[in-house]
Amino acid sequence: MTRPLTIALSKGRILEQTLPLFAQAGIEPETDPDSSRRLILPTNRPDVRFVIVRAADVPTYVQYGGADIGVAGKDVLLEHGGEGLYEPVDLGIAACRLMLAGPAGGGGGPVGRARVATKYIRITHDWFAAQGRQVEIIKLYGSMELAPLVGLADWIVDLVDTGNTLRANGLEPYETIADITSRLIVNKAAMKTRNAEVRGMIDAIGEAVAAPTE
Ligand code: AMP
Repeated sequence: MTRPLTIALSKGRILEQTLPLFAQAGIEPETDPDSSRRLILPTNRPDVRFVIVRAADVPTYVQYGGADIGVAGKDVLLEHGGEGLYEPVDLGIAACRLMLAGPAGGGGGPVGRARVATKYIRITHDWFAAQGRQVEIIKLYGSMELAPLVGLADWIVDLVDTGNTLRANGLEPYETIADITSRLIVNKAAMKTRNAEVRGMIDAIGEAVAAPTE
């Protein structure tokens, strides 16, 4: 028996907005992913299953074929680099911006080389390098907003939605680095070897995205 078509998803904000799209495409998990501790979730379709992974790991699972398809934020895809992946559908969900931010009113920055805290090392490096600006990048895994408040960094690069988190910490957005939404991604080899199934899924999700929501 061939392996069910395997779709990698991550818990949280993206999952909440992704499951309705799969439901519209006729695919629903048999157990609630938010309450279940299972990492492999069968669906109402025996030929399709979900796997639950960390958001930043979705492209890696799909790149190496641990999953055939995945849903990942454009931020995660840019940071991963996109090797071995197609990105056929912009799901238009979890929209936000990846921004350079820092202390409110402090746009000029430090005299010397600025320190920038972020979990997006690669994107931040490439963005500053493209402008010929030298910065020191400090890798963090979360709560980037804290770094300028305690003197760990001058600036941060992080996702901004409403801007409330920045404001609540005396920070403000300076510049937009990228507009972000979640994307459907596909393993390049699976696109060839399981073309009919993968194409079917891309089309069904594409239609769900295009359908008017009530
Ligand atoms: P906000 O206060 O609405 O600007 O949201 C900012 C916080 O939520 C930051 O900690 C971000 O890392 C996180 N965030 C905002 N948008 C997203 C998104 N689309 N996906 C994941 N995290 C997000």
